[in-house]
Amino acid sequence: MVSDDGAERRRRRTGPPPRLTLDTPVTYLKGVGPARGEALARLGIRVAGDLLRHVPHRYEDATTVTPIAKAAIGADVTVLGEVIATGVLPTRKGLRVFQAVIKDASGLLELAWPGQPFLERTIHKGDWLLCTGEVRFQHGRRVQPREFVNLGPGDAASLEGRVLAVYPATEGVSVRWLRTLITQHLSALLPLVKEPLPAALLTEAGVPPLPDALRRVHAPASVADAQRGRARLAWEELFCVQLLQRRANELARVARPGTPFENRRVLTTQLRDQLPFTLTAAQKRVIREIVADLCSPRRMNRLLQGDVGSGKTVVALFSALLAMENGYQVALMAPTELLAEQHARTAERLLAPLGISPVLLTGRLGARERREALTRLASVEPVLAIGTHALFQADVSFARLGLVIIDEQHRFGVEQRAALGAKGADGESPDVLLMSATPIPRSLALTVYGDLDISTLDERPPGREPVTTVHRTESARGRVLTFLESELAKGRQGYIVYPVIEASEKTDLRDATSAYEALVAGALASRRVALLHGRLPADERDAIMRRFRDGELDVLVATTVIEVGIDVPNATVMIIEHPERFGLSQLHQLRGRVGRGGGQSYCILLGDVGQEAAARLQVVVESEDGFAIARADLQLRGMGDLFGKAQSGVPTFRIADPVRDEVLNEHAREAAERILARDPELRLPEHAALRQLLTVGYQRALELFQVG
Ligand code: ADP
Ligand code: MG
Repeated sequence: MVSDDGAERRRRRTGPPPRLTLDTPVTYLKGVGPARGEALARLGIRVAGDLLRHVPHRYEDATTVTPIAKAAIGADVTVLGEVIATGVLPTRKGLRVFQAVIKDASGLLELAWPGQPFLERTIHKGDWLLCTGEVRFQHGRRVQPREFVNLGPGDAASLEGRVLAVYPATEGVSVRWLRTLITQHLSALLPLVKEPLPAALLTEAGVPPLPDALRRVHAPASVADAQRGRARLAWEELFCVQLLQRRANELARVARPGTPFENRRVLTTQLRDQLPFTLTAAQKRVIREIVADLCSPRRMNRLLQGDVGSGKTVVALFSALLAMENGYQVALMAPTELLAEQHARTAERLLAPLGISPVLLTGRLGARERREALTRLASVEPVLAIGTHALFQADVSFARLGLVIIDEQHRFGVEQRAALGAKGADGESPDVLLMSATPIPRSLALTVYGDLDISTLDERPPGREPVTTVHRTESARGRVLTFLESELAKGRQGYIVYPVIEASEKTDLRDATSAYEALVAGALASRRVALLHGRLPADERDAIMRRFRDGELDVLVATTVIEVGIDVPNATVMIIEHPERFGLSQLHQLRGRVGRGGGQSYCILLGDVGQEAAARLQVVVESEDGFAIARADLQLRGMGDLFGKAQSGVPTFRIADPVRDEVLNEHAREAAERILARDPELRLPEHAALRQLLTVGYQRALELFQVG
């Protein structure tokens, strides 16, 4: 109890503690010494008011707990039981495992915590434990708790009907201690809380006022009650982030005037008249949105999202032509040389009747070709330059760059995008169009991509054949290979994709390298097969893809390097090994490599997977809708995984989850837009508390709303 003595001493030194306010440091509270104070600070709790904002991350009550007898092997369960035995056992590898047996009215269950022998000091016979984890089979049913709460000694009756708040805890402060601390101060703190938001907003959103919400969250009468409280806090967080994002978007556009292009309808009309197909309604709408943006005096910063095959390229070409007929140059950047070449060929084909020939700029050009390309970019000719990151190298200068288009934008870092943006003439910033093949719901896109406007292609061009997708288990491997062979015999090509390049000690996954060796020695001995992965030098990789594209190879054994938009219509089979290792959106992207006009195509997810994974894969088997798949993916894996670390500027959330809280988020966005339309700088007196809320909670608010 050294820490408590410390707190006592400090209290004596500073006199009697002041009356409790929301700003009282937590170290002034009884039972909180310097050590716990530090631990609380790690959780973001510094003053008493922070305790109220430290919200349980889940709740348990009788309805969410599985009776021990019903905890089936393989299931993920939360169980509640009394400890009837404990012990520490060493394993053969010398790891010490803390074990406990718990009991409820229905039966017994063994719990194990490998490497945590110290739990012996805190978990005792007679304590009630609430644990969550997967039930495994190890000499009987056993759970290694992913998470657990020690409720202390008691009896089953005293826990009946109670809702248990489970708080995020950390080393030095247990869930149980935190719950006690918060419960002790709740009734003193709640009356001090003021509602920061206009009442009308709350009514519209259908959420309770803050003090009420906080009470529900910390001391709920039922789990539903707690959810209602949480919704209020989540809504507030989403609303604040939307306010900041919408404001940032507005300021960004005003701060950087773009080139006011004019819709001259010269080249664009010519392109439309000689296209070999008619544009889909979605393409027309999106082109209208982009044209309006390009013709406004503000700078365009727009994301075009659309599923694989939704026809983004031709939209990019219309945008490019509008800039060119205004005498400006356009740069279209792709993540690989192959994709750049493919775009150049498409552009060449579609723009030749207009007398336009694009300039291709990749790392593969010879010295003379490169010099010629650079000369064209440096002249005032309104060219369309297509290339890789080679486009923004130091020696490339554009005479009049007016528009930058970036395909597969998630493949580029923020700096790379910025480098191309800085190539405008006389320090002008060119307009920017980003393209992405992982479409997400609009309100989420507006949350994730703060300063971007969003256009969405939500319709596929007609005539695309569906890809037959199946999941086959290990027992069907022979038949799958026979099927591949029968397609190859028809002159088709195929891909086999693996999650890893090489075998490793850590996993027993099938890997591309060993599989390649086995296939060329066995099942595919008479076929032309190549191995393709990200560790090959870029030029070698491109050479292999080129041979595949030109029909000189039958099968590519590859990793996910083939995921990005390359078009080989004759490839009709995609076999994916260990499909459970990939995200759903990634599987969908991979599948997008087949079914590109070469006839009936197949995607075969191959391997034995667990029940949950099988259910997940079913989403891809049953749907070819990239939106639905991205949404399922987001719900399963969260935002971080889908957008990756490269996407800086993606906001983080404490309470809300913009994916699961999609409806709340949509309301929050509408509310934020309405408020900003009326009071862009939040200067009205009725918004003073809101302004305060933003500036306390969000660093960025200071700048965006020019406080002080
Ligand atoms: P993505 O959005 O994946 O980049 P692409 O731009 O590569 O898609 O288009 C996929 C294919 O669909 C291309 O072969 C393209 O020529 C074709 N396409 C695009 N728009 C239409 C349309 N409106 N009607 C028919 N085919 C179209
Ligand atoms: Mg594309």
